[in-house]
Amino acid sequence: MTADPLESLLDLRQHQRDGVRSPHKPLLVLLALGRLARTGSSEISWSEARVDLAALVTDFGPPSKTASAQKAAYPFTRLRSDMVWVLDADVPMDRVTPLAEQDVKGRFPELVERTLRDPAVLRATARGVVEAEFPPTLIPDVLTAAGLDPDEVYGTPAVVTTRRRNSAWPAQVLNAWDRQCAFCGFDGQLGASSVGLEAAHIRWFNYEGPDDLNNGLALCSLHHKLLDRGVLGLTEDHRIQVSTDYTARTVTGRQIYELADRELRPRVGTPLPDPSHVRWHQSQVFKGLRLTG
Ligand SMILES: [Zn+2]
Repeated sequence: MTADPLESLLDLRQHQRDGVRSPHKPLLVLLALGRLARTGSSEISWSEARVDLAALVTDFGPPSKTASAQKAAYPFTRLRSDMVWVLDADVPMDRVTPLAEQDVKGRFPELVERTLRDPAVLRATARGVVEAEFPPTLIPDVLTAAGLDPDEVYGTPAVVTTRRRNSAWPAQVLNAWDRQCAFCGFDGQLGASSVGLEAAHIRWFNYEGPDDLNNGLALCSLHHKLLDRGVLGLTEDHRIQVSTDYTARTVTGRQIYELADRELRPRVGTPLPDPSHVRWHQSQVFKGLRLTG
């Protein structure tokens, strides 16, 4: 083991060659970091990994015809060679059957896990691993799919570090809105995971916006940006408002106008945005006047 075990976690990129992507080990590390952040333990059983890890590799890895269980077995066994992963049974590399027979469990070694229990170290490690492997546009999607909260990993400003983000919140928001944009209905998926869909705070987290379902909307990346920039907003009776300051010339850009006055229609049981959060957004973020017909 190297002097600093975290160095090994951040060094997985050494396995890349000639531009051939090999995100398998980084994705397992991120999945285990997500576990650790949520449950206090990085342990993942093979029966879980063959579903969750295989989905990550399928959705965020390169195109491949390899069977999904095999895609998971490769990092689940091989990450041991990097000295940052242990299995509770002595099984051969890459083979699915021995993993399945005993439902082998994997985890970070105790020393690594203890270091990562410091949330700042965990966040820095997640950033290092994901940034080494993926472009910025994919980072929020990858982190969310691995069970990490991108906003938490990328940092709350110093003034709010006393508050802890709820790692499960983004996934809960996406599910509550049926994995569709609450404004336009966009519901794109790549494999099992949403693509271009994000959990948006109405009242910003930086300004005491809670990680509650009544402060969240599932929004496509475009509408999330426009909400945060104040082009789009909400009324207290849950209608979308479009700023009169927004202008566009093309048909695509002008489609934003068609959102004006559209009513949010979540599924049964999903709380609508709380009026207090809506009022905060109206006064602090929404730009100009409301476009009305
Ligand atoms: Zn949208």
